[in-house]
Amino acid sequence: MKCPKCGKTLRKFELMESVSLDICTACKGIWYDKGELAFQQEVERDIPDLKTVQKTSFPTKCDCPRCADGSKLEEMKYHVKHDLLVDRCVKCHGLWLDFKELDKLEKVVARTESFTQRLARAMKDIDARGFTVVARKKIKE
Ligand SMILES: [Zn+2]
Ligand SMILES: [Zn+2]
Repeated sequence: MKCPKCGKTLRKFELMESVSLDICTACKGIWYDKGELAFQQEVERDIPDLKTVQKTSFPTKCDCPRCADGSKLEEMKYHVKHDLLVDRCVKCHGLWLDFKELDKLEKVVARTESFTQRLARAMKDIDARGFTVVARKKIKE
């Protein structure tokens, strides 16, 4: 895969079991396949309110490194209230983050996730560990 900004070959970094990021060692940008950003940041969606930010998106001349078929990236705000910009492939919906945008990401994500989303995830985690199942059994007895 080639960096959409400077054309260098991206290097793969295994972040976790199911996530490997493609990073440009020259410009330090990062490519996230669809769903990887949400997974890394532990949020519901790659882009919290896509419909809103898409209204102000604009096309770029950058080629998607994943599709590599001439599919272009479009630049949009990650969230309407913040100046963090991401480049999103119109076809595979992967995301490119420039190095300068990365440090903004953590701060923005912490602010955009709603309480209900956090709660829903916490409930899911509890279910996965079997806590609620145990609790239900106890009530029946
Ligand atoms: Zn690059
Ligand atoms: Zn693509």
